[in-house]
Amino acid sequence: MRLSRAFVPTTKETPKDAVLPSHIYLVRGGFISQVASGIYNFLPLGKRVLDKVRAIVKEELDRAGCQEVQLGFVTPCELWQESGRFGKYGKELLRFKDRKENCFVLGPTHEEMMVDLVRGRVTSYKQLPLNLYQINLKFRDEARPRFGLLRGREFVMKDGYSFHADEEDMKREYDLMEATYRKIFSRMGLDFRAVEADVGAIGGSASKEFMVLAKSGEDTIAICTECDYAANVEAAKRQKPKAPEPAPEFSNFEPFYTPGLKTIEELSEFFKVDPYYFVKAVAKKAIYDDEEKIVLFFLRGSDELQEVKAQNVVGANELVDVSEEELKNAGIVPGFIAPYEQECTIVLDKDLKGAKGLICGGNRKDYHLIGADLSHFDDALFADIAQVKEGDLCPKCGAVIHLTKGIEVGHIFQLGTRYSAAMNATFLDKEGKAKPFVMGTYGIGVSRLVAAAIEQNHDERGCIWPKAIAPYMVDIIVSNIKESEQLEFAEELYEALQQKGVEVVLDDRADRFGPKIKDFELIGYPVGVIVGKGLKEGKVQLVDRKTLEKKDVAKEEALQKIVEMLS
Ligand code: ATP
Ligand code: MG
Repeated sequence: MRLSRAFVPTTKETPKDAVLPSHIYLVRGGFISQVASGIYNFLPLGKRVLDKVRAIVKEELDRAGCQEVQLGFVTPCELWQESGRFGKYGKELLRFKDRKENCFVLGPTHEEMMVDLVRGRVTSYKQLPLNLYQINLKFRDEARPRFGLLRGREFVMKDGYSFHADEEDMKREYDLMEATYRKIFSRMGLDFRAVEADVGAIGGSASKEFMVLAKSGEDTIAICTECDYAANVEAAKRQKPKAPEPAPEFSNFEPFYTPGLKTIEELSEFFKVDPYYFVKAVAKKAIYDDEEKIVLFFLRGSDELQEVKAQNVVGANELVDVSEEELKNAGIVPGFIAPYEQECTIVLDKDLKGAKGLICGGNRKDYHLIGADLSHFDDALFADIAQVKEGDLCPKCGAVIHLTKGIEVGHIFQLGTRYSAAMNATFLDKEGKAKPFVMGTYGIGVSRLVAAAIEQNHDERGCIWPKAIAPYMVDIIVSNIKESEQLEFAEELYEALQQKGVEVVLDDRADRFGPKIKDFELIGYPVGVIVGKGLKEGKVQLVDRKTLEKKDVAKEEALQKIVEMLS
């Protein structure tokens, strides 16, 4: 493509709300443009990258035996009512009516549509297994659309759904999808981890997320420094932490006057006791379909509450903060909450089971209880509600756990019969009995990947595209198009590269060299060729975008050397 004819509106201006490199460079490099909050146009360069991501996804899925379909983006509400999700999905689900007052939603995910497609058409175990996917638009009215393509409202997702006669076959497919996803992200040249993920309140089934490692990632992941254990902190486990020495000794269980001391830090200082030996209370309001209630979570003072775990334990739709006022009305003393004598639901972290010699709130202003013993709390609800932290020990091998940040680009999930049962999608098994399909579901954030690749691969000048998804491979920069010798050689090289099947742009704009090299760096083509003054001595310069290393090569060798750089 000739840049003199191309629609690549690069700009020096950083979009107002942009803080992350991918957002800034994709807009400045003319890949995307914003339409409205969380909604973007893909311009020619952006479309090429998106199509490359899409093509890799498709190729690997087709190779694994999946079949591509394309479902309607606009989904009838009835399907969502049938699955029971219509009332539950919340405000991310955009609902609207047509002129005949029929209710629709813009699909944020397509379990319902896919189950509806398959039911009645697949009726026998002989037609199973089946794995159908689409690469299509999704709409989620996200509360905080941000970071450009990373969290849009309208975005492109690959969503796949598999149908099986039994659990065992679903698990086989799940493993196949994990292997396929690994191939997909490896081919894209990304540094990623497959991590154990939260399965939500339903629990039971397995789920893995694929995380592109990047400082800006919104997810925190726990990675073992020795073995292959990796998990989203929302689901991460750990070995029981070792008790620090010395343990405090209390001869009695009694109230202790602690005026104005509320935080674990202050208390630890005051008592000269390690935070580990304190019981910390976190009060939350749990929101359900038709009620809300206060729940008190208790953990060691050295731990923090993991809210997703906590929410799952109490089976709430959401956990929100609760005001001091609300606590007082419920007879709770903020800042001095004890696990004793509470009317509301309480949950204790499993690491507190059987613990003794503790300090906890005194249920009375300015008092704590020392010598608390939780060993007679065995009937209470103990659960894993603590957030795994840096330095905790790996649940698998006991080595140290390290926390890092990731961008979720894929998610595979053993779904079971949740949707097929609710929507009465059944097949006849070998004995002729009707059974709901056992399902798996598999997502990839196709447009998010475009941005994730840049979060992982950029410098202070712009994008550094992995070769597999670069918009073009080579940018031939004509330093001065008025020099006919330069333009002629560049044209020849442009032709020759195209002949070899190399995707190449020719910067033949009537512009100065400065802006051209700046655009090369901003857009991030893997290789640049500078056809400039050196041509008089028979030389051109090759630039490696990643390292910014430049080398002079004889013009006759340029073609060969470029091909080498791309291999
Ligand atoms: P997140 O936790 O980031 O909101 P999710 O758990 O809601 O993601 P899924 O429902 O599993 O995501 O969707 C499958 C994939 O779609 C995700 O792994 C992610 O890559 C992508 N995705 C989800 N929400 C968005 C969004 N708002 N913008 C762009 N991509 C998204
Ligand atoms: Mg989400």
